[in-house]
Amino acid sequence: MPNTTPVVDCAAVVREVLELGRNALVEVHTSGAITVGREGAKLAPMAEMAALGVKVFTDDGTGVQDDRLMRRALEYASGLGVTLAQHCEVSSLSEGTCMHEGAWSARLGLAGQPSEAEELMVMRDIALARMTGAKVHFQHLSTAGSVAMVAGARAGGLAVTAEAAPHHFTLTDACCRDYDATFKGAPASALRSRRRRGESRPG
Ligand SMILES: [Zn+2]
Repeated sequence: MPNTTPVVDCAAVVREVLELGRNALVEVHTSGAITVGREGAKLAPMAEMAALGVKVFTDDGTGVQDDRLMRRALEYASGLGVTLAQHCEVSSLSEGTCMHEGAWSARLGLAGQPSEAEELMVMRDIALARMTGAKVHFQHLSTAGSVAMVAGARAGGLAVTAEAAPHHFTLTDACCRDYDATFKGAPASALRSRRRRGESRPG
């Protein structure tokens, strides 16, 4: 993942990582950033990194917020035959939050991030994947709605994939009840609530 210092956002840093990994006990590969410095403002030189063997690009740590920039990135990715991986979190809904928005955040008086902060970006990127034909991977999804959208996109023949982390499907926001920051994750709301049967939206 390129959420490192320095950010892996150009050929020189890719070369440095591969060089440092040359004598490692395992094979070392690196992903590249989608935008310069992971700042979300300007596309990174993906072609020069792809030429060195980078197959996955991501601004992990944050999602690419700008719709037009993401469209361009996907167009390049499609041409280069590489995959864009997205940390799905719409910052205008997530900024200043520290847990999932629901009954527990209300009870604890903490600023919560709604599931929609993730789901809106999943929805947009599925639409852009359809538009551009690019391959998209959704990182560490945490809501049932996101999973349903990815399943629907795959059933429709789109080249999208996703993953979930163990804490997302074993723990819930109720773990935050004692203000234990051990259960704080990123995306800010990593621990979601359990959806009850018949509910249209998690609580
Ligand atoms: Zn992430």
